[in-house]
Parts: sequence; structure tokens; C-alpha cells
Amino acid sequence: MMIGIDLGTTNSLCAYVKNGEPYIIPNRLGEDLTPSVVSIDQNGEISVGKTAKEMALLYPETAARVFKRTMGTEKRYQLSGKEYSSEELSSFILKYLKEDAEHFLGEAVTEAVISVPAYFNDARRKATKRAGELAGLKVERIISEPTAAAIAYGIEHREENTKFLIFDLGGGTFDVSILELYHNILEVRAVAGDNFLGGEDFTNILVKMIAKRHEIDLLKLTKKELGKICQAAEACKMEYVTNDKPTYSFDYRGGTISGFIPELEYEIECEPLLEKIKEPIKTSLSDAKIKIKDIDMVILVGGATKLPIIYRYVGKIFRNYPNNSVDQDKAVALGAAVQCAMKERKADLKEVILTDICPFTLGTE
Ligand code: ADP
Ligand code: MG
Repeated sequence: MMIGIDLGTTNSLCAYVKNGEPYIIPNRLGEDLTPSVVSIDQNGEISVGKTAKEMALLYPETAARVFKRTMGTEKRYQLSGKEYSSEELSSFILKYLKEDAEHFLGEAVTEAVISVPAYFNDARRKATKRAGELAGLKVERIISEPTAAAIAYGIEHREENTKFLIFDLGGGTFDVSILELYHNILEVRAVAGDNFLGGEDFTNILVKMIAKRHEIDLLKLTKKELGKICQAAEACKMEYVTNDKPTYSFDYRGGTISGFIPELEYEIECEPLLEKIKEPIKTSLSDAKIKIKDIDMVILVGGATKLPIIYRYVGKIFRNYPNNSVDQDKAVALGAAVQCAMKERKADLKEVILTDICPFTLGTE
């Protein structure tokens, strides 16, 4: 069995195709997303996902997160006194996903299509492939995330020369890619972004607003106390999708602190972050030598684009409604699964990355 895997900076997940449709495979906790966090204790016991994320809050010296940023580099992470590369840490996540998929599907999972950012160079793609192999997976293909997202929208059935802009705002990274489809080839015409902008920054704004309102000095908090506020802020942030006055609540020094933050107030505080979104969009358009009006479809990807503030902001920039009909934090995994199915039918879509517009050397198919 072959599965599609989105090995994300913040969350990882996998999907498979049944009767021609892609489905997400839930993990052992019954959740679709597995936080990309690894924790290893003194005895060498490895935890992955939600458990590791909780460990990271309390015992940061045992845990590693956002290690995808250093995939394929010399960087090493110390966990309980031992050193690990990003590749090894990623293999622990992939192994966990593989086990969960086997449990869910009731059969062996031996092959995978794994997604990586479009700007990953050859070394970083190879490191991702090795991480898969370390986890016991034959990596049939490494696919670019924006390509996978576009495939999740069924673009293989679309007209020739369609131009897509994939707007991907994850937990800590922002990627804009411009893709053009022709003759069964998806050409990545431009990629731009900000490696230090994402949903976490939007959570931090809420953390600061809550702290200010309740006169809490963030610098004087213990890790545990700060962790509690961050969790409450993130839960509050996720509610804006359905509620413009979401509430927060957390235990604090023997009492409970709670309240709500109207979206309008939040939006004003987010302005500097929103401003940072514009530049990569401009860069990608000018690198691809096209104008906003030439973009046929804007596709939102990444959990952070679920914020209505972002949806409206992107809509304003493009003077059109962006597409979010495929769940934003699942599109890449779903597209990777569709790619598996196309591969099995020998009908895969080729991906070409224009190297001259890219600041890195990229391995192309
Ligand atoms: P990555 O690609 O970095 O692995 P994801 O696409 O999973 O990340 O996005 C993770 C980010 O999305 C987190 O910052 C999380 O808070 C945010 N997020 C997830 N769901 C929502 C939501 N409903 N509203 C706002 N933000 C959300
Ligand atoms: Mg992602």
C-alpha cells in the first residue's frame, strides 16, 4: 500500500485513496493531524505528536520541534543528552504515521509520496527521502507542497494554461507559489515566502493581548504558566472561524482567568503581520512575470488561512474570493495521496520547477 504524506513543520498527516477519492488517515488518538514534535527521554523512549508537544512545554530539553527548517543541514538537536539530525527526527514522525496508517488500513504500508516545500533544494529533498527510508518506507516520489495542494483541487481535469497562486500559511512558515498547468505538466513558475511568519505569530498577538488585559507580565511566568496562556490563546484563535467574539480561559495561580477578544480588536493588532504577507506575493508575481488579474485561481493552504482575517485580507489583495473548499490543513496530504493513485495508474502529473527563478538548485524529475 502506498500513502501520501504531508511532513509539515508544525503538523504532519497522511492520506490514501479509496474508490478514486482521497481520505485522511486518523492517527492512534483518532486525530487527523499529528504535531511534528519529537521527545526522547533519558531511557531513549521516543514520543511523537501530541504527547511530545506536551512534553516540550514542560521539559523542553527532551524535545525538538520545527526541525524541518534545518532538514538536510548539519544542524543537530540535543534531546536528553543525545544528538539527532533533522532527518532522524523526521524519520520518527514518519514511522509513527506509517504505524498508524497500517493499524487503520489493516495492511502493510511500504511506499509513500512525501511532500516538501517547493524551494527545497536537492540536498533537502534527498534528506527527506532518506528520512522516509529510515522509517521503512520506499519513497516513490518527493512532490512539492503547492503541486500537491493544486492536485487536491482536481487540477488534472482543468483547462490548459490555468495559472494558480497557492497561498500557504502554516504554523511558522509562509509560502507563495505560482503554478501553471499545461500538457500534463505542472510548472512551478515562482516561489517566494517568509520562513518566519505563520499561525504562531497570530497566536502570540493574542497571548500579548490577554496578558495586557489581565496585567500579567509574560517575562515573569514559569514555562508551565506561559504554556497555559499559549494553549488558551491558540484555542481562542481557532474559534474565529465560527465566532467573532471567541472566549479564552486558563488556570492561573490558584484562580481562573477568562474573557473574550472581539475580532475587530484582534484584527487591528494583527495589522503588522498582515502587512508582511504582501511582499512575497509581489515578489512571486514579478518573478513569474504575471499580473494579479492573470491568476485564475487563488488556493488557500495551511491551517492559519482558516482565520477569517486572513481570508478577507487575501480576498482584498486579489479582489476575488480565494478557494478553500478543500480543508486547508489537509489539502497537501490529500493531493499527495491522489498523486500515489495516479502513479499506480501510470498517469502521474509531471512537476517542473523553473530553476532560473529559484535561488536554489532544485532537483527536478
Ligand atoms: P505546517 O504546514 O506548518 O505544518 P499547518 O498547516 O498544520 O502547519 O498549520 C498550523 C497552524 O494553523 C497553527 O499555527 C494553527 O494554530 C493554525 N490553525 C489551525 N486551525 C486553525 C483555525 N481553525 N483557525 C486559525 N488557525 C488555525
Ligand atoms: Mg504545511
